Amino acid sequence: MKLVSFSDRRGPVRVGVLDDASHVIDCKAIDHDFPSSMLDLIRAGQAGIEQARKVLQAAPRAARLSLNEVRLLAPIPRPTKNVFCVGRNYKEHVEEGHRTRGTEIVYPVAPQFFTKAPTAVIGPDESASLDPRVTQMFDYEAELGVVIGCGGINISEADADEAIFGYTIVNDFTARDLQRHHDQWFKGKSLDRSCAIGPCIVHKSAIANPQDLGLELTVNGEQRQASRTSYMIFSIAKIIRDLSLGMSLEPGDIIATGTPKGVGFAMDPQQFLADGDEVVINIEGIGELRNRVEQVATIAEK
Ligand code: MG
Repeated sequence: MKLVSFSDRRGPVRVGVLDDASHVIDCKAIDHDFPSSMLDLIRAGQAGIEQARKVLQAAPRAARLSLNEVRLLAPIPRPTKNVFCVGRNYKEHVEEGHRTRGTEIVYPVAPQFFTKAPTAVIGPDESASLDPRVTQMFDYEAELGVVIGCGGINISEADADEAIFGYTIVNDFTARDLQRHHDQWFKGKSLDRSCAIGPCIVHKSAIANPQDLGLELTVNGEQRQASRTSYMIFSIAKIIRDLSLGMSLEPGDIIATGTPKGVGFAMDPQQFLADGDEVVINIEGIGELRNRVEQVATIAEK
């Protein structure tokens, strides 16, 4: 089951369930007691999912809205806290990073965590902001996103699946020069409009093995990244185990699980994103996340 947050001319942000590739059902229009937001739906646990299943079964064809008539938003339009991320979680991406910097290859021995601010979040078909006065090295990163369901603290690897609600796609847009300048990842990862999420959350019941999904990223139609989630260094279960050790994970928390090789920073010559570039990520079983880069002035001209 694919769940979305959407809006149209008729009102506020609503939760929908995708009926097929081109139609969405407005859950609250079918069931007035349906949770009002994606976060409320996730917090409702299994009961919420049962409600969504009933909506899908009960909805008459006339209740279906064409995706052309609505605007899909990030599935959780404004996360309640920073988006958790894992850096350097694919072996060949670790290798390309060291090769580009001319340093000896050292693989991480534990997941490397950082976060992206909620103000960075954008949805499908929204523009990622590029201010050339802030960064000259704006890059993309295709990643599988894990959405936490019931959450918890000190979650074992064996119990990790129970803590998960579903899966989404994340583009971890990154200002490489700011990462280097501040010798720390947070700032270069948290610029406004630099965390694309969507187009939907696929409930975990529809993903047989999240650890074996193909993912691909293109820039203006040119393939840059193509890999499988089976190549992660640290599995989703291990990530949840380590992240939740002594720190609560809560319903609606999002974890971006790292990017495979093929980032623009590691190309020869290097290729960074420019105004008008279109970046598209496909992940098997989830869908397609498409965003355009738009040059903006966050710093006024002098
Ligand atoms: Mg990343």
